[in-house]
Amino acid sequence: MVSRVIPVDPFDLVIFGGTGDLARRKILPGLFRRFCAGQMPQDAQIIGAARSDLDAAGFRDLVADAIAEFGGKTLAECGELPAFLDRLDYVTIDARGDDGWAELKTKMRKGVVAAYYFSVGPGLFGDIAKRLNSWGIADKNSRIVVEKPFGRDLASAQDLNASLAAEFDETQIYRIDHYLGKETVQNLMAIRFGNLLFEPLWNAQYIDHIQISVAESVGVGGRGAYYDKSGAMRDMVQNHLMQLLCLIAMEPPSKFDPDAVRDEKLKVIRALQPVAPHEIVRGQYGGNDGPSYRDDAGDPRSFTESYVALKTQIANWRWSGVPFYLRTGKRLKARTSEIAVVFKPLPHSIFDDVGEGGQNVLAIQLQPNEGITLDVTIKEPGPGGMRLAHVPLDMTFAETLGDEAEEAPDAYERLIMDVIRGNQTLFMRGDEVEAAWAWTDPIIDGWRDRHDVPKIYDAGSTGPEDALALLHRDGRRWRDLSV
Ligand code: NAP
Repeated sequence: MVSRVIPVDPFDLVIFGGTGDLARRKILPGLFRRFCAGQMPQDAQIIGAARSDLDAAGFRDLVADAIAEFGGKTLAECGELPAFLDRLDYVTIDARGDDGWAELKTKMRKGVVAAYYFSVGPGLFGDIAKRLNSWGIADKNSRIVVEKPFGRDLASAQDLNASLAAEFDETQIYRIDHYLGKETVQNLMAIRFGNLLFEPLWNAQYIDHIQISVAESVGVGGRGAYYDKSGAMRDMVQNHLMQLLCLIAMEPPSKFDPDAVRDEKLKVIRALQPVAPHEIVRGQYGGNDGPSYRDDAGDPRSFTESYVALKTQIANWRWSGVPFYLRTGKRLKARTSEIAVVFKPLPHSIFDDVGEGGQNVLAIQLQPNEGITLDVTIKEPGPGGMRLAHVPLDMTFAETLGDEAEEAPDAYERLIMDVIRGNQTLFMRGDEVEAAWAWTDPIIDGWRDRHDVPKIYDAGSTGPEDALALLHRDGRRWRDLSV
């Protein structure tokens, strides 16, 4: 297959928080990778903006170091670093003061795409949005990009939305959920809506249940203090898992257009049933010998969850009676994320020996390797008579697509290029985010009101025992977490 890299239009991209962790680990190495791939125009301008007192040369050094540290092996082979660094500039700016704004204005060019990436804490979103307008820097064609967390509950998300809406139109606001930038996540839409095969089966008549698992083997590490104020429900379920659920469950949009897609996702979130206390399990790692969440968080009395497993349902015709099981956690047995669509058993088998576990399963893997498998039943090869075996039809992207998969942009790269192209399909709309919080809030409030204590699980395990029971009660079991 021939790789097609379509260059984007000339642009000025300002990264507020250009000296921060996210910019250094993801955004700037990602931009460099697009530059090496030939996707970025030679006259693109990238301006770092933060309070640190740097000049352009100092920022270029910082970016060169970041690329060396976080760029990975493909970047080491790209000889374009000096040309890329030439595209960089820097402004010392205070989001809450007057310093730097006049200078930033002089650096922005007319007639090119202007994008402002708010890679700063959400407490600064409103300040930056306001100053971009009051200093006459932004206009109605400018785009702003905001990072998660987008609020910590419905009220704070509404406040954030209001502070951005006061300055920018919704069509200018790009809320990033980097899960939506993953190749496989977009493939989910291609599989569902680009094939005749699946859509007729994609409903309660043929699907037994759906599992969405996002498991990490690492703990909260250096983010302990930040994470402790958030927990798995806010950090993962309200955004990433919810977005995956939407793409699996939404009705076919009339066209592949940002609002058509997001309208359908919103309907899914609004149709989500409340989760009863017995349908959700919270966990915290910290068994006898292994690492403990409380140590990592620096709070020996923390009740924040590092694990959530829950069962929910979607109240509409397509999904009536189909459970969606979601789980996510840290310090689990393996780093693996997948969506598994488990089909119902055969209504009648003509074979005596049907073997174990004969249900068809479509599994969409997001990490560590992106790919798709479909478990099907075949005859076991050999002379042993009509014995059946269940085997995966396997399409690991790295094997099937070869170099093309190697060169595929990572989630951040793809999303930033989408901002420049002006395509909002893979970004969350304000009403989507609010609907997701409206569903999440009662769960978190319930824990608080009941003084819920998370179940302790061993680091390196599959999570708390109670999470197994959540499916056992329904006569089902979680898929294996091993890679
Ligand atoms: P960080 O390392 O603390 O960086 C914050 C950046 O903001 C720094 O460049 C800082 O530079 C700048 N800044 C702080 N106050 C400022 C002010 N008043 N005016 C102008 N600049 C200011 O944070 P981060 O980890 O990069 O995270 C940035 C955002 O991305 C946060 O919203 C975070 O939740 C989100 N996020 C981060 C990650 C991640 O992996 N790091 C992942 C997902 C989402 P100066 O101190 O020089 O001003």
